[in-house]
Amino acid sequence: MDTIKSLPAVAVRGVVPIPNNDFRIEVGRKISLKAIEVAEKEFAQHMIILIQKNPLIEEPTKDDMEEYGALVKVGMKFKLPNGNFKLKFNVIERVKITNYAQESKYFIVDYVDSPNIIGETDEELTLVKMVIEEVTKNANVLLEANNNILDKISQGVTTDILVDIVVNALKINEVEKYKYLEEASVNNRLKMLLSDISHLKMIIDLEKKLNDEVKKSIDENQKEYYLREKMRAIQNELGDKARKEEEIEELREKIISAKMPLLVEEKALQELARLQSTPAQMAESSIIKTYLDFLVALPWYKVSEDLNDLSKVQESLDKNHYGLEKVKDRIVEYLAVKIMTNKNPQTILCLVGPPGVGKTSLAISIAEALNRKFVKQSLGGIRDESEIRGHRRTYIGALPGRILNGMKQAGTMNPVFLLDEIDKMASDYKGDPASAMLEVLDPEQNSKFSDHYLEEQYDLSQVLFITTANYLENIPAPLRDRMEIVELSSYTEHEKFEIARRHLLPKQLEAHGLKENQFIVDDEVIYYIIQHYTREAGVRELNRYVGALIRKSIKNILINKLDSVHITRQNVEEYVGKAKFTHNISDRKDRVGVVTGLAYTQYGGDTLPVEVTYYKGTGKLVLTGKLGDVMKESAQTALSFVKANALKFGIEPDIFKDNDVHIHVPEGAVPKDGPSAGVTMATAIYSALSNKLVKNNVGMTGEITLTGLVLPIGGLKEKSIAAHRSGLNTILIPKENERDIDDIPTEVKEKLTIISVDNILDVFANAIK
Ligand code: ADP
Repeated sequence: MDTIKSLPAVAVRGVVPIPNNDFRIEVGRKISLKAIEVAEKEFAQHMIILIQKNPLIEEPTKDDMEEYGALVKVGMKFKLPNGNFKLKFNVIERVKITNYAQESKYFIVDYVDSPNIIGETDEELTLVKMVIEEVTKNANVLLEANNNILDKISQGVTTDILVDIVVNALKINEVEKYKYLEEASVNNRLKMLLSDISHLKMIIDLEKKLNDEVKKSIDENQKEYYLREKMRAIQNELGDKARKEEEIEELREKIISAKMPLLVEEKALQELARLQSTPAQMAESSIIKTYLDFLVALPWYKVSEDLNDLSKVQESLDKNHYGLEKVKDRIVEYLAVKIMTNKNPQTILCLVGPPGVGKTSLAISIAEALNRKFVKQSLGGIRDESEIRGHRRTYIGALPGRILNGMKQAGTMNPVFLLDEIDKMASDYKGDPASAMLEVLDPEQNSKFSDHYLEEQYDLSQVLFITTANYLENIPAPLRDRMEIVELSSYTEHEKFEIARRHLLPKQLEAHGLKENQFIVDDEVIYYIIQHYTREAGVRELNRYVGALIRKSIKNILINKLDSVHITRQNVEEYVGKAKFTHNISDRKDRVGVVTGLAYTQYGGDTLPVEVTYYKGTGKLVLTGKLGDVMKESAQTALSFVKANALKFGIEPDIFKDNDVHIHVPEGAVPKDGPSAGVTMATAIYSALSNKLVKNNVGMTGEITLTGLVLPIGGLKEKSIAAHRSGLNTILIPKENERDIDDIPTEVKEKLTIISVDNILDVFANAIK
C-alpha cells in the first residue's frame, strides 16, 4: 500500500514537469505563491506540481487537473519587475494525486508515488540502443538546442533518466509530454519516445520536403519569370530583326520595281545594304530610310499617255474660262506645236498677269486636256538655290528641292508642272535660284537635272513646265528669254460679272451642295459686289464673296426653314455686310494740287493720286510716299519744267526761291516706280503753284521731258480698266500710246473719254479748270 502523503501544490498550464530535469515557471497567481511559501516554510521546499487540463482557466479547481503530477523541490526563486516570481524546481518524481485536501487559499493534495516499472531487459536494451542511435544521429533536428544531452548520454545514464531527459528536450508539443508523466513503465516510455521520434522525424522530413517544394516553386516561378522575360527580349530582338528584314525586302522590291536608271538603282541597293547593317536605333538608319523612301516614291519610268487632241484642249479651256480669247488662242497654238512634233516645245509657257485672273486655272485645264497630272510649286520668296536643288544629305534634316518634290507628288514623269510666281524669286549669297531654274527650264539640260539630295541625275525632259508671273519686268532676263510670254490682264466689271455668273457661282453652289433653284441672286447684286466690295484685277475676292453669300444663304434656309433665298440689292448687306468701297463721282471734288495718276503694279492697274503743296522754305523739293528712284527723277523733271516755264503759267518765279515744294504720293503700300507719273506730278505742281483747280474725273499717265513732251508708257490696258473701275470718265494718254487703244476692252472704251496728248500743255488744258 502506497503511503499517502500531503503537500502544498501549484497548478501549471501549458508545461509539463518531467522528472530528472529542471523545471522553470513564472508564478503570479496568489494561490500559487501561498502554496510555495508554505512549501518553503513547512515542507523543506517540497511541493507538488499539478497540471491544468485546460490552460485557459484562470481559477482551476480539482476537476480541471490531470491525474498525475510531479513532486518537486523549489530551487531558485526571484522576483520579476512585474511582481511575478520566477522559479526553478528540481523535478524529483512522478506522483498520482489521490485527493485534494484543500482548495481554498491554496491547494494541498494527497498523493502517492508512481515509481518506474522496469520491463524486460533485452527489450529495454534494444529500445535504449535505438533511442540513443536516433538521438545521436538526429540531435539537431529532434532536440531543443542548448542542452548537453549528448554529453550526459556519453557519460552513462540509467534508462529512466535517459528517457526523461530526452523527452524533456524533445521538440514536441509540451502538452503531449503529459503522457510520459502518466506512464510508469520505462520500456513503454522508450517505445513512446521512439514513436514520437519517428513521428517528429516524419514531420520534419515533410516540412523539409514542403519547404523544398515551396522553395523550388518559388525558384521555379522566378526562373519562369526570368525565362519569360528573356524570351520576350529575344522575341523582340528577333521580331525587330524580322521586321527590319521584312522592311528591307519590301524596299528592295520597291527599288527593283521602280525601274530606276541602272546607276541609280545600284546606288539605291548600296544604300539598302548600308541600311541593313545600321542598327535601327541609329539616326543614320532613318536618314537612309527617308532617302530610299524618297527614291522609290519618285517616278522613274511611269508616264501618262497624252491625249493629243487639240480640240479637247480648246474645249477644256473654254469650258472652264470665260473670255480670255487671245490667251486661249495663244495656248492652243503653243500646244499645237507640241502635238505636231510630239515633243515639248523649246520655250516655256509663261502666263503673266495680276493675281486672280485665272493663270493657275488655265494651267489646270491644260493638264486636264492633255490627260496629264498637274503639280504646282510656288517659287515666291525663294532666295536660296537649295530650295530648288535640295540640300546635300550631309546636312541634318536635308530635303530634296521643290522640283523633285513636285515630281514625287506627280507620280509620273510627264506632268504639267506649274512654277508659280517665277518673278518673285530673289537671289542672295546662298546662290542664285534663277540659274538653277534656267537648268530646269532648258530642254537641252533638264534631262540631266541634278538635285543635291538625290545625288543622281533626274530626267525632267518630259515635264511640261508652265510658269506664272505677276509682273514681266521682274523676271530675270535670261529666264525671260526662255519663255513664251502670254499676258493676262485685269478683268472689266462686265467680265467679272460673267465669270461670276457662269463659273464662280455654279462651282461654289456645287461645292456647298446647294441647288440652283434654291439660290437666286439678282444681276444687280453681283455688279454691286464687284463695285463696292472688291477692288481687284482678278476675281479672287469676288469668288470669296460668292462663297460667303452661299454660306449665309444655307444658314438662312436651314434656320428659317426656307425653300430658297433671293438676294437683292436691298438685302445684300444682310448677307455680306456693309460695302467697303464707294466710288461715287458726286462725292469727289475738284481740288487744287491733287491729281489722279494711273499706275501699273503687279496687282494690275490702279489709280495713283498725287498731292502737291508748298510752304515757306529755301527752294527744296520734298518727296514722300515710298517713291522709287526713277519716280524721284521724274518729280525733279516735272518741277524743273514748271519752274522753267513759270512766267508762262502765271507763276511768280520767286515762289521757288522762298518755298519748299512737297510732293506726296499716298496709298504707298506698294512701292511705285517708273516714269509714267511725270505728267501727273507736273500737273499737280502747276495746279498747286498757280492755285487752279484740277478736274476730279480726269486720270492721266505719261512720262515728261524737260521740254514738256509727253512720252509713251506701258500697261495702258490695265490703267484704263483701273480708271474705269475707280469712276473716272476721262483719261489723258501719250499720243504714242494711241496704238494700244485697241487693247482696251470695248466696255471700258465706251465709258471713258480717251484723249491723247503729246505735250504737257495739252494735259493742263484738259485737266485744269
Ligand atoms: P491666278 O493663278 O491668276 O492668281 P486663279 O487661276 O487662281 O488665278 O483664279 C482664281 C479663281 O478665279 C479660280 O477659281 C478661277 O477658276 C477663277 N477664274 C479666274 N479667271 C477666270 C475666268 N476667265 N473664267 C472662269 N473662272 C476664272
